[in-house]
Amino acid sequence: MTAELIDGKKLAADVRERLKMEIAAGQGEDLPVLAVVMVGENDASRIYVRNKQKAAAEIGMVCEVYEFAESIGERALMSSLQDLNDNPHINGIIVQQPLPEHIDPLKILAVIDPAKDVDGFSPTNLGLLATKEPQAIVAATPKGVLQLLQSTGQELAGRHAVIIGRSNIVGRPLAMLLLNQDCTVTVCHTKTRNLAEIVRQADIVVAACGCARLVKADWIKDGATVIDVGINRVEGKLCGDVDFDAVKEKAAYLTPVPGGVGPMTVAMLLENTWEAAQRQFREGKAGSAAGHGHHCSCGHCRS
Ligand code: NAP
Repeated sequence: MTAELIDGKKLAADVRERLKMEIAAGQGEDLPVLAVVMVGENDASRIYVRNKQKAAAEIGMVCEVYEFAESIGERALMSSLQDLNDNPHINGIIVQQPLPEHIDPLKILAVIDPAKDVDGFSPTNLGLLATKEPQAIVAATPKGVLQLLQSTGQELAGRHAVIIGRSNIVGRPLAMLLLNQDCTVTVCHTKTRNLAEIVRQADIVVAACGCARLVKADWIKDGATVIDVGINRVEGKLCGDVDFDAVKEKAAYLTPVPGGVGPMTVAMLLENTWEAAQRQFREGKAGSAAGHGHHCSCGHCRS
């Protein structure tokens, strides 16, 4: 069997195109605004932020970057986030990680208004996801993985999904998301015994461990679906957590790296921001209903 590749690039482009049309159609409303908070200097973060700004601009979304010195204190950063929470122009807030050592990311995430927490990393949104509340904002990478799975058209209920990795940004929220889809979910990590044996039982494998080509072809049940979240650089080339060339001959569906989960992550962040903005516009907490309508000179509004 040769796997059908799931084209994350195409799927993400479709999502971005839909968002662009929906935003353009929202005549009379403010443009959605995403605030990206960066602390200190980090070359990788700067590249990620630039990519987000570019992707936002392409769909007509405003992306504002708030930069703070490495030396900023935890309290001062929390206070600045509170200002963003209170600013009716801002619809979504993300804090670029990693943060400097002296700042506790959990404390910072807890300050973000859950309605603006478009990364979905705050304890409130994780709790809402865990309790299957529809208003949960779901983290972009797990949400992208679900859409990639759904794009194959297969029934998810009752399938055994094995996730390799239990981070707060990928493995854990994905486990809850797939459980909410009635999958039977197993989460593996570095203390898991017989990893290969467990993966062999999976109808769906999601590799999110950051270990280049860890998942081998003989770990994969014939006809399984394999989603590769990993981004690793080996000898200057990008590769995932799955041994792509060999697994391709075993799986029914497989995502490539690059071109699979990565583009979906960015698209889902934009979707989360647009959905949050729409909720705020409807509830009158932002946009024209909050008094920033047709005569606003803020630079974000359409008029
Ligand atoms: P992370 O925080 O380092 O977590 C890695 C997880 O994998 C941990 O739970 C760890 O277990 C587990 N793990 C590591 N080695 C393992 C092994 N040999 N066997 C079994 N489990 C193992 O990483 P992350 O932030 O979740 O990211 C995971 C990968 O996805 C990275 O390559 C990252 O670059 C990539 N990523 C991609 C996207 C995208 O948009 N495509 C988004 C986010 C992340 P313990 O908990 O026991 O340590």
